Order: sequence, then structure tokens, then C-alpha cells
Amino acid sequence: MSNYPDNHGETVLEIDLNALSHNYRYLTSRLKSETKVLGVVKAFGYGSDACEVAKELENQGVDYFAVAYVNEGVALRDAGIETPILVLHPQIVNFGSLIDRCLEPALYSPRVFREFVSEAEAKNQKDYPVHIKFNTGLNRLGFWENDTEWILQQLETTESVKVKSVFSHLAASEDLSEREFTMNQIASFRKTSEELSKGLGYQPMLHQSNTSAILNYPEAHFDMVRTGIGLYGYSNSEEIDTNLKPVVTLKTIISQIHKIEPEESVGYNRAYRAKGYETIATLPIGHADGISRNYGNGNGHVLVQGKKAPIIGNVCMDMLMVNISGIDCREGDEVIIIGEENPASKMAEHVESISYELLTALSHRIKRVICRKQ
Ligand SMILES: *Cc1c(COP(=O)(O)O)cnc(C)c1O
Repeated sequence: MSNYPDNHGETVLEIDLNALSHNYRYLTSRLKSETKVLGVVKAFGYGSDACEVAKELENQGVDYFAVAYVNEGVALRDAGIETPILVLHPQIVNFGSLIDRCLEPALYSPRVFREFVSEAEAKNQKDYPVHIKFNTGLNRLGFWENDTEWILQQLETTESVKVKSVFSHLAASEDLSEREFTMNQIASFRKTSEELSKGLGYQPMLHQSNTSAILNYPEAHFDMVRTGIGLYGYSNSEEIDTNLKPVVTLKTIISQIHKIEPEESVGYNRAYRAKGYETIATLPIGHADGISRNYGNGNGHVLVQGKKAPIIGNVCMDMLMVNISGIDCREGDEVIIIGEENPASKMAEHVESISYELLTALSHRIKRVICRKQ
């Protein structure tokens, strides 16, 4: 654990566990006290550090975790995480290790359901917890509404599995102009999940909300909510973002400063041409680290001494150049790429992307530094 002397002398991704706990508390303040919380830690905890995030959330009393794939769940178990883990999109080839590591599959189609039951039977399981996923309009993964009869029939023939939860996923919970569509998804889920529960004769947990639905659709909270992006400090709403704290700060330093003259070019393909006498800085981070070439040519900027320095020319694999003309700075000085003053959501907007994509793209070449800020 670093006490973060601010300048780490290289490119680092600071992960602020206090910010994470702050966001957890804010999100739970928007729920009824009995509503359970599932923390989504897929894709390395949205590009941060899934194991550190999961440990902190366990301390906060989180009820469940979700990952996308089995290997992500295995990594959490290896790190000593004991909370139940839902695997949202397990692949059939990994069902064996899923059961070995007590991970819980989402079952979303007849093919996947049959394959899982046969694996659970082969491993002599009884009442192995599974989660039935319904498609209510996203058209990505999920059983159809009229599959409930089929699911119930299959469950009659085996004791190997037990339905721990029934869930669905919303397509546009952040978009209030799609309110009618979302209300239809909620109504459809309510009807289908009730039908299935009635047939089961016991009540599985129901869940449908992601972060934006926690904020925008209290009627969709059901027994549990699944929050990902909100935990990391982003909410798809500028207004709500003021209540959250970005968990990660991406920092680097200035490797070299060049003074250039009018018409001189910078970087590959000579993509930038100086308009006058300019000062530019080279930073040790590039597209191999997750700062896509789209941020080049003036589309993105970084902060040097708190001032905006546009990314100029083409982003290289391991470096990029920024225009620091008029900014009082030196080689070795700290540079903020993503953080509270330059949020991932804003930065991503410049290239028509979203915070999710920018955060999860940050490569593992970048050192992660766990810290606790005020
Ligand atoms: C990724 C994911 C979530 C989390 O969504 P956020 O918008 O990050 O809160 C929830 N549910 C499912 C099924 C997901 O795939």
C-alpha cells in the first residue's frame, strides 16, 4: 500500500479503495435496506483490480459478485473470496472448473441448461445453485418468456440443480427517452419470473437492475441489484456523478520536452504540424496501454499542472505527445490522464466512446497501485 507521494515516476493506475467504499455506500443509500447488492467485478473490476475491489466490497458487506467468464471467478477464489459468484456468460467447456470452484452459472438457453445439468449430474451434485436468465428485450442472452414451461419440466427430471435466482438485463436504463421500453422490460420480467417461481414452489431471488436502473427505476430493484460502473465512480449521468468518486486515476510523467518551430512535424506520418513556436512533451503511455489512436490528433487531452494539454499527432504504441505550450512544467513532472479532474466519461466522449470502454481497455502493462485517499 502506497502513501502516494503523488509522483510515482512512471505510468501508474491508482486504485482508491476509499472511493470504492464511498460509491458503494452512495448506491446502497438509493436502495431499500433489505435489497441485496451484487458487485460486478468482471473485466478485472472494470480495468482496476478485481481481487482488491472484491475484498473491499466484502468488507462493506456486499451480498454477491458477478464476473463474465469462469477464469475471472477462479481468480477471485484463488484470492480467497468466499462470497457467492455469479458467472454471467460461462462457456460449456469450463463447467467442470466452474463447479470445482463453487461458481454459479447463469443458464440462458436450452442448450446451456442441458449441458450444465449433465455436468452437475456427472459430478454428483445436488441442488447446485443456478441462475435463470430471461431475455426481456436486450436480445443478447436469455430464455424467452414462453420457455418457463420447458425449464420447469427439465427441473422435474433432476435434483442436481436448484434455481437460486431469476434475472434479466435492461437495454437502456440510462436513457430516459426509452422509459416506455424499459417499463415494458420490467413488466415482462415481473410476469415471467412470477410464473417460473409459482411452478418451482419456492421463491428464488429476482434481479434486473444495473447501475443506471438503481438510480432511475426503483420499481426494478426486486430482491437484488447488480452494480458495476457506479462502484467505479461513473453513473452515465453527469448530475449523479457528482455524488460518486472515480476509483481509478491514471497518471504518468513527462519523459522529454521538445521546443519546435513553425511547420515542424510531430510523430508518425508527420500527422501534427506546428503552427508556431511550440513546446511539446512526450509521455510514456500509448495505444498498447489502452489509449487508443482515436485520442490522437487533438481529440483527447491530459492535464499538466492542472492545465489541458491536447494529445497531438498519432498516438504511438508506447508513447504519445502532448502540446504543453504556455504551461510551466519540467521533465519528470506528473501528468493526469484520467481522474477526478479529467473523468473517464468526459475523455471517452471525445472519441464517441463511454467510460466502460476506456477503463476496461487499460492494459496490464500499467502498474496498479492500491491506495486510500481522503
Ligand atoms: C456488466 C453487467 C452489469 C453491470 O452493469 P453496469 O451498467 O456497469 O452497472 C449488470 N448486469 C449484467 C448482466 C452485466 O453484463
